[in-house]
Amino acid sequence: MTCAFTLEHYRDLLRAARAGGYRFAGFDRAPEAGDVILRHDVDLSLDAALAVAEVEAEQGAWSTWFLMTRSVFYNLASSEGERALARLRELGHRVAHHAVYPNVDLDERFDPVVAWHNPDPDYMHAEIPDAVNVMQPPFFVQGHYRSDSNQHWRSGCPHEELARGAFDWVQILTHPEIWAYDGDTMRESMESFLTAERAARLELMRHDRIDLS
Ligand SMILES: [Zn+2]
Ligand SMILES: [Zn+2]
Repeated sequence: MTCAFTLEHYRDLLRAARAGGYRFAGFDRAPEAGDVILRHDVDLSLDAALAVAEVEAEQGAWSTWFLMTRSVFYNLASSEGERALARLRELGHRVAHHAVYPNVDLDERFDPVVAWHNPDPDYMHAEIPDAVNVMQPPFFVQGHYRSDSNQHWRSGCPHEELARGAFDWVQILTHPEIWAYDGDTMRESMESFLTAERAARLELMRHDRIDLS
């Protein structure tokens, strides 16, 4: 098995979690032995989020999706954003808030759970009033956390440890754009994303009655 950042290998990760005897869990209660908490920070693309969300649903898995209200790349208040929110809920996922410090825009669209976008160390693990900070105990604990940041698993791809039940419990952060778009490096995946984005934006322009003839 090769540890590529592809939807195929994401599927392997989900199967490995099942093989290891894990259950999927969220941020509504403290982690327990046997929990895999799948967390996704959506930085760039709702399309990528939906692609990964569909794979999870197809595998009988669910996760928590952290969506931005202040993204420079997508608009959650657009019709596309509303459709994505509805689809994530419909697939059985949870929706939480990927916030840009210091703004917490929790409203009825979100569960009261926050993950800061690119946090600085001075507030990363701090209390957030009336919300769960996913980077605070009990959810963030040394040895119980893995992240695919910039298309690199700092402690290695967790599929093998999941399959043999090596974690007591674990929070796994993945960014859907890395898995939904092809590329052996972050740069290549971003180029693939931009290619897809160009086509998608041309389609939006047509919808917007922009003459592209
Ligand atoms: Zn792997
Ligand atoms: Zn982010």
